[in-house]
Parts: sequence; structure tokens; C-alpha cells
Amino acid sequence: MTPVTRFAPSPTGFLHIGGARTALFNRLYAQHLGGRFRLRIEDTDKARSTPEAIHAILEGMRWLGLYWDEEPVFQSARAERHRDIAFSLLEAGKAYRCYATPEELAEMRATAKAEGRPPGYDGRWRSRTPSEAPEGVAPVIRFKAPHEGEQQIDDLIQGTVTVANRQLDDMIVLRSDGSPTYMLSVVVDDHDMGITHVIRGDDHLTNAFRQRQLFQALGWEIPVFGHIPLIHGADGAKLSKRHGALAIEAYRDMGYLPDALRNYLLRLGWGHGDEEIISDAQAVSWFDVADVGKNPARFDFTKLNSVNAHYLRQSSDEALLTLLADRRRCGGKSNYSDEQRQRLLAGMASLKPRVKRLDDLAEAAEVYLAERPLKRTDEAAKLLTAEALATLTGLRALLEASGWDRHELESLVRHYAEEVMDPAVKLGKVAQPLRAAITGSKVSPPIFEVMEILGREECLTRLDDCLI
Ligand code: GLU
Repeated sequence: MTPVTRFAPSPTGFLHIGGARTALFNRLYAQHLGGRFRLRIEDTDKARSTPEAIHAILEGMRWLGLYWDEEPVFQSARAERHRDIAFSLLEAGKAYRCYATPEELAEMRATAKAEGRPPGYDGRWRSRTPSEAPEGVAPVIRFKAPHEGEQQIDDLIQGTVTVANRQLDDMIVLRSDGSPTYMLSVVVDDHDMGITHVIRGDDHLTNAFRQRQLFQALGWEIPVFGHIPLIHGADGAKLSKRHGALAIEAYRDMGYLPDALRNYLLRLGWGHGDEEIISDAQAVSWFDVADVGKNPARFDFTKLNSVNAHYLRQSSDEALLTLLADRRRCGGKSNYSDEQRQRLLAGMASLKPRVKRLDDLAEAAEVYLAERPLKRTDEAAKLLTAEALATLTGLRALLEASGWDRHELESLVRHYAEEVMDPAVKLGKVAQPLRAAITGSKVSPPIFEVMEILGREECLTRLDDCLI
């Protein structure tokens, strides 16, 4: 049997980190077993599903490299088929029309509450005939759920889970307006799409029992289930926005690389020994849903940052330049000039090990882009004392005559500090104010490299801006 997995998001919100991880696990599991990974958009809640959310889910998945096989299935387009199945259940005596009024249902809930039972329908129309139907009540169709015995799910992650059938009431499969319910649609679609493995968040575990009953009643093969524990925050609490429960675009905008985020998500709840950095090929060959942990994984920005820093360092200078240019365009700024591109490319090797995210890289890259007069940080401004400016004035004359290569610049400044000024004066005493004058900051890539890349004219003018 070739496995077929699926990701079935409801487009009532954007693609979140938990959904992305579910999609990744489904895709990897299918790839691992040589199967297919399908996408189904569960857009039946017309009021809450938006085209923007559908677009964001598709884009988010593409950006993260979570490609699916075949065309996506839109659940709303299949309502007719869902209705047909509801009526086939009715004809087979496995479902019935229920005319209970909203007041009756409210009363059932109140009684159940008073008796300390979970709320549920009491089955009062299970064996009545429509001839007893009250006037003016449009019926719903309810599934005649088996009440005897128990059922067992051998969940790939949760292990064997058992539920007594009497705990499951007769759920609605078709509403009074003729619209199918989630529980029915999921079962029909999973069957029609040939889904063999349903891997999803463990908030759906109780639904699995109801869905299993429907599969059985319809005489369809029951898929294998795997329910993944949800993601928690670093403090162990349920994931909130503060912890990282953000839409995938927010991670893109913060400057995470898709490969890094995918690698991080893979390690969230699953592992292969102590391996932190796992290539796509390794992931496909190692991944098994059965190895996903039973406890909630903790989302940790520090770890994500360090994985991202790794992928940034591995990226080519050209690729990073392209990403920076894209961010800049998205931010509404003009393209880099040729000179800026050249400077950035020359400086990239020293910039990239210093940062964790693309937004840090963009900030660090400002040293090559900033327009004069430079904005100086307070710390940089403090370094430019009257004494420091006098030192830089002396240095300027020597710099003007230099051949302007990073090694020559370094020996020139060292010579100036230790021999022209005083043997006790160390390089830093001159290099620090020089860095403050040329970069506007106390921290930068190696200053002589920056000076070489910026070129003589730009550096001397930046210096003059301080000296005058
Ligand atoms: N559409 C459901 C959700 O977004 C998932 C249904 C399923 O995976 O069976 O939570």
C-alpha cells in the first residue's frame, strides 16, 4: 500500500507554526515511505474562511518548501457528495432525521450538566418516525452511533487509546439547512482522496473516534491515525503569540530562512540522536511519525535563532545579497546601486557570521549603505572626544597617502598609534574612534576590511564629517 497523507487546514486564520509542523510531518512521512502528500483546504465555514487566508496558507507552504502532490482539494466544492453520503446513511438506516427543537437541546444540555455528564444528544429521535415530526421544524440528520461496546485506536504516536461507545452521542452529519458537518466532510474526503494516514494535532484525537465510527458504518477502510502533541511555549505554557504562535509570514518578515525554519520545526517533537542540523535528504530517510514524542514540544526562539544563524553562514554571499535586495524592495526602498552591491558582496563573508537573522544582517549591512552624514549611536559619539578627534586629525594625513588595502591600513594605524603617538598607546586607542567615525557605531566587521571596501574617498569624507 502506497501511503497517502494530507494536511487539511481550515482557512479561518493564516498558516501558523503548529500547522506548518503538521504539514511537514505529513510530507516527510509520505516521502519516507515513497507515498504522496496531499492538501485539502477545509473552507466550509463560509463566514470565517477568507480568500486572503487561503492565499496565505498556499504561499506559506510554498515559502517553507512544503510542496504537496496533485491539485489541492477545496472541501466546499464537495458539499454535494457529502450530502449524498448523508442520505445514503439515512437510506441504510444508519442515520435518522431529528426534529429536536433548540429549546429541547438546551434542556438536554442543562440536564446533562446537572447530572454531571458531558453534554450530548439523548437520542430521542433515534427510533421515532418522521410522521411524528412537529410542524415547522426543519430536521437535521444524525448518525445512529453504536452505543454498545468500545473502540480502540492504535495511534502511531499516542499508542492504544480506547473509548466506550456510550460516551459518543449521535452527532449531526447534515444540518437543517442541508450543509454537511465537519465530521462527515472529513471522513468522506479522506476516503475519496485515498488518505491512508491521518496525522494531525492531538486536539483532534476525540474526533478520531467519531470519524472511525463513520468509516465503519460506510464500510470504508479506516485510515491509520497519528495525533501529534501540540506545541507549547518555552515556559511550558500553551503557545501564545508572545511564545511564537505567529503566522508563517511573521517568521519570514523577521528574517528566518525557510530551510532553517523547516529544520527547526522538524526538531520540534522529533529527533534523530543529537543531530541538530538535518538536511532534507536525511529528514526523508530518518523521519518516522512513530518517533514523535508524546509530550508537547517547547518552542524556543533562542534555538531557532541558532539554527537560523547556521543556515545564514552556509548561504552563499550572492544568495544573501538577493534576499537582502528582496527585503529592501518589499520595504518600498529602491534597488541597490552597482556600487552598493559590490560593497555588500565584498563585505558579506564578514557580515554573515555576526548575525542570526536577515533583519540583523540588513542592519549590519548598513555600514556599507549609510548615507552621509552618518547617524551615530550614542556610544560611538562618546568615543569621539576632543582628544580622539585630535588623534584622528593626525591620522588623516597618513591615511590619504596609503595604498588602501586592509593590511596596509592596519599596519599604518598600528604604526601611528605605537610610534607616532606613544609606544604605550595600543592599536585600539586609535582604531575605536576611527571605527566610530567611519561606521557611526562601536561595533562593526573588522574596521580595516570595512575601510578597504568603502574605499578611500568615502572613508576620508566620513572622517572629515567628524573632524570639521
Ligand atoms: N481542518 C481541521 C483544522 O484545521 C483539521 C482537520 C483534520 O486534520 O482532520 O483543525
